[in-house]
Amino acid sequence: MTNLTSNPNTEELRAIALKHHLPPFTDHKQLAAEGGPRIITNADGCYLWDANGRRYLDGMAGLWCVNVGYGRKEIAEAAYKQMLELPYYNSFFKTATPPSVDLAKKVADLLPGHLNQIHFVGSGSEANDTIARLVRHYYNLIGKPQKKTFISRHNAYHGSTMASASFGGMAGMHAQGDLPLPGFVHVAQPYWYGEGGDLSPEEFGIKAAKSVEDKILELGADKVAAFIGEPVQGAGGVIIPPDTYWPEINRICKEHDILLIADEVICGFGRTGEWFGQQTLGINADIVPMAKGLSSGYLPVGAVAVSDDISKTLKDEGGEFAHGMTYSGHPVACAAALENLNIIERENLVGRVRDDTAAYFNQALASLNDLPLVGETRSLGLLGAIELVKDKATRTKFDPVGKVGGICRDKSFDAGLVMRACGDIMVLSPPLIITREQIDELVLLVREAVDKTMREIAA
Ligand SMILES: *Cc1c(COP(=O)(O)O)cnc(C)c1O
Repeated sequence: MTNLTSNPNTEELRAIALKHHLPPFTDHKQLAAEGGPRIITNADGCYLWDANGRRYLDGMAGLWCVNVGYGRKEIAEAAYKQMLELPYYNSFFKTATPPSVDLAKKVADLLPGHLNQIHFVGSGSEANDTIARLVRHYYNLIGKPQKKTFISRHNAYHGSTMASASFGGMAGMHAQGDLPLPGFVHVAQPYWYGEGGDLSPEEFGIKAAKSVEDKILELGADKVAAFIGEPVQGAGGVIIPPDTYWPEINRICKEHDILLIADEVICGFGRTGEWFGQQTLGINADIVPMAKGLSSGYLPVGAVAVSDDISKTLKDEGGEFAHGMTYSGHPVACAAALENLNIIERENLVGRVRDDTAAYFNQALASLNDLPLVGETRSLGLLGAIELVKDKATRTKFDPVGKVGGICRDKSFDAGLVMRACGDIMVLSPPLIITREQIDELVLLVREAVDKTMREIAA
């Protein structure tokens, strides 16, 4: 660990954190050995500062979420105003609040035309848990109670609660908590660089999609409820599927009467250069979980959009859908999310990614290909990945996976950049406000981090 020793208050805070704060996704033994967490104290635009005043370019927009960047007074003011007017009321039992209704309409207007009803939750995990219950309820209502099994992909990420981690395909998560739950099965991911072998990306896209169809045929379409996929897998390592993949998935789901769930928690709200990843990749989704960029992380809020067919079934059949959270449709979170979407619109951030920064980012990353450690760079919109490999020519990965990535992540922090490691895939997801100059700065810092990683593993 470096850079965390100058401010006595920081040291005290780190010690208290070790004693009292039990943080998520952390190796607690390792954290203790390093003397506690890095303390981040403030932020503006694309930059973060730690408790010692050190500045970092945030190449991850927090956790893939701060799409409009930090320090937006308009969002703070919208939340403040709403707190004074009505800090809380629920959406249970036939009530609603103006911000929740306004946000539902706004999100429905942005989504493709057949997705018109929005259910609010507190996070992406809750969105996917909601979907597990809603889909099974829906099939009961339409008299197909056998259609209950969900198909997902290995190395997918759909959240961390029991059902959302079951949707997910992370082996390390399944090993903790005895997951997946019954009724959640997993097939191949469309990860050409890692698993495509000698096939062309196009051939491999078809093959990966076929694993979904094979699973449907194996289980029987009358037993399968839905297929879920992130348009681009985020936490799995920014896996951008070959162009042949999603059209084939559309066909398979339609042909076998399977609902298609497009998890837009990362891809939504401009990340891929359209409002939603399903628009960029041509996905015909029936159900859409959202979170992260919905509020740019300023307050916790997630959502589930459902197709008109599902809406109509709920209305026609009646009976209570016995599901919801105290904070579903929280008025302050919804007011903040609305202002966030207004900013994205007002500043044309989606168009800016699509027409300018996406291509610039892609080329800037590609400039790293001269580094011996870099097997491939890839990006879509402002989602990017750098594959660190043992042998470039044969696409051979390091063994064990994750060690080199971990070193590179630490070197990035040392260089003043937040870049995340998914195994040995370095991933980037900067705020959508990032400029060309800042992309140049980002790639220079990546180069420095990869260079230093190379030297450390050579030594
Ligand atoms: C982050 C994420 C989730 C979970 O969202 P939380 O708000 O962390 O619960 C679900 N799906 C995808 C694709 C994600 O990236």
